[in-house]
Amino acid sequence: TALKAGNLDQLGSDVTLPRYNRDDVSVGILHFGVGGFHRAHQAMYLDALMNEGRAMDSGICGVGVMPGDRRMQEVLKAQDGLYTLVQKHSDGRWEARVIGSIVDYLYAPDDPETVIERLVAETTRIVSLTVTEGGYNFHHVTGEFNVDNPEVRHDLDADATPKTFFGLIVEALARRRAKGMAPFTIMSCDNIQANGDVAKASFVAFARRRDPELGDWIANEVHFPNSMVDRITPVTTDEDREQIRTRFGIEDGWPVVCEPFTQWVLEDHFNQGRPAYEAVGVQVVDDVMPYELMKLRLLNASHQALTYFGYLDGYRYAHEVCQDELYADFLLNYMVEEGTPTLAPVPGVDLDDYRRTLIERFANPEIRDTLARLCAESSDRIPKWLLPVIREQLERDGEIKRSAAVVASWARYAEGVDEQNEPIEIVDRMRDELHEIARHNRDNPLAFIENREVFGDLIDNERFVEAYTQALSRLHQQGARATVESVR
Ligand code: NAD
Repeated sequence: TALKAGNLDQLGSDVTLPRYNRDDVSVGILHFGVGGFHRAHQAMYLDALMNEGRAMDSGICGVGVMPGDRRMQEVLKAQDGLYTLVQKHSDGRWEARVIGSIVDYLYAPDDPETVIERLVAETTRIVSLTVTEGGYNFHHVTGEFNVDNPEVRHDLDADATPKTFFGLIVEALARRRAKGMAPFTIMSCDNIQANGDVAKASFVAFARRRDPELGDWIANEVHFPNSMVDRITPVTTDEDREQIRTRFGIEDGWPVVCEPFTQWVLEDHFNQGRPAYEAVGVQVVDDVMPYELMKLRLLNASHQALTYFGYLDGYRYAHEVCQDELYADFLLNYMVEEGTPTLAPVPGVDLDDYRRTLIERFANPEIRDTLARLCAESSDRIPKWLLPVIREQLERDGEIKRSAAVVASWARYAEGVDEQNEPIEIVDRMRDELHEIARHNRDNPLAFIENREVFGDLIDNERFVEAYTQALSRLHQQGARATVESVR
């Protein structure tokens, strides 16, 4: 059955359908970057609220600005905004649900003026974003808002027709201000630490360049709540589409697949009200920082802890590593003994449960997360996710043997061959430099951590150096399993 409003009654009873009348839903949220994640996350939470008869004035109008979004517009138009969300359980069960909270979609390059008008409309109270980490347009090296980006440069001219989400949203804010209207809230749902603060910095930098007073008005009047978001949502494959056709009889041009777990911790900073997200499991808090630390130092750091060891040992998928008791044990102990002591109190979270659930999530074979993905960009990730744990643990005289071993596993991985003597394709912006250094690991065991650009002054700490060199030496002599065994 082709997915569309008129066909819903033909779908099987194994598919959960919207329980509300979609004609009663009006747009209150404009969302930029309708991809897999938004459709597995915010749109799903709103659909859950609507199923309870709430948030009916908070329907989503998606907005696409990138060339790749034209296809999303075509698919959603053909399907009346409906799509299938499939949760893949680790026992092989797939759970399908049709989501109805996206009630409109605009492809901005076709008609930017309509997008701006929608943004200016009194009924638009929230503008939300999943525009990827790079979308916020900060220069990789200087950390400054990048005004050399040609599209941003084009949009800075107040008379130009805007192409970017900055140009569209700031033009709408300028018009609201001129009319004496209150602004909408800008809510980033991207996977960036302090995503609201980052969004604010980029919008204010853009607007100030266009008109300093407008920039100040945005800095003072617009709310940018921070949030922590979590739900693994891989890219939809043709195989997924095919499976959804055979398992559920649904012809869906662009379904979304994801893991069962979902989390959204959101700061309650909205100036025009918000849907009652907390009624459907969102944690609405004053400060997301403790939750972000929890995610970085348990989830993200654990990914690092499993990936290099696992890869060297011959595994290629995260679930394979986590189904191996040795590694699962090692991860849990890393989290309990090293990651957790460095966390601030996390209100409303049972950390025992969080840690156990993490390992179950990683072990889900349906998700097929590759170690190659987790091993990428280590020189960005290890310093953000793992080194702060080591530093804090050293300060408080806590355990570091597992974290130090993880650093050693990265150093060994950077040598570029695994334990089966297969070459490793390293993906890292510092690849050449790291590979060159790691070549010396055997004749100078300190070579890798002498790199102060990455490790700062850790090399001066005896306890760290000893734990690291022991692990590296064991990796060279006995391999990954024996090394993990010795520190687990
Ligand atoms: P996706 O590729 O399915 O969708 C990305 C969307 O962002 C597309 O609509 C694309 O056109 C748009 N986009 C990209 N760059 C843009 C720009 N400069 N301006 C405007 N729009 C832009 O990706 P996704 O899986 O939906 O992930 C999007 C973001 O969601 C991630 O970058 C991450 O920050 C966050 N996230 C994803 C996951 C996940 O598992 N996929 C989990 C947590 C958070």
